[in-house]
Amino acid sequence: MRILIVEDEASLARHVATALTEAGHDSETVSDGPAAVAAAERVAFDLILLDVMLPGLDGFEVLRRLRERGISSRVLMLTARGEIQDRVTGLQLGADDYLPKPFAMQELLARVRALGRRYPEAPAQALQVGDLRLHLASQEVRRGERVLDLSSRERALLKVLMREPGRIFTRTELCERVWEREHEYDTKLVEVFIGRLRKKIADPPLIHTVRHLGYTVREP
Ligand code: CA
Repeated sequence: MRILIVEDEASLARHVATALTEAGHDSETVSDGPAAVAAAERVAFDLILLDVMLPGLDGFEVLRRLRERGISSRVLMLTARGEIQDRVTGLQLGADDYLPKPFAMQELLARVRALGRRYPEAPAQALQVGDLRLHLASQEVRRGERVLDLSSRERALLKVLMREPGRIFTRTELCERVWEREHEYDTKLVEVFIGRLRKKIADPPLIHTVRHLGYTVREP
């Protein structure tokens, strides 16, 4: 992928650029907001890694200008850890994902891979993990031949998990994606809905708890 790195911490930017090159990507780095907008107008990047705290224009303003100008490159925001409002703002402005800083390079590469997969050339008809299949047009969910009777929230939660099999989602992340701000990030709610989904999906289990981290969906 062709990736633009927007990061004013020079050593972090170098580190990220090296990791992306090693993973087979082609990257370019800029270190302030106006340069990011200019670069994104010049080149159709597949992905922009966008820091929030930047000189010139902050990451949100950069994102707002890009979307305003019809630039649809995927955007992964690099936010400060724990700043939930930052993540929500980024997603509302049209970011595709966010990664709290500081992050492990492995995690960044995993997100980059996932964003590369999220827009396949022919749009996917269905999400599939093992014999669990969620048909995107009809929203029907089947485990093998059995049709699952899911509520819209259960289906939304399952969809988030199934879009990126193997990725670990924290309870807070799931809460933000499925409930947005309605419930003040009551992560207990996520546990309840995961429990219901598990019961409906039945055995062998596909939703797995990763201790102290969150949940992931993968084949048994
Ligand atoms: Ca910064």
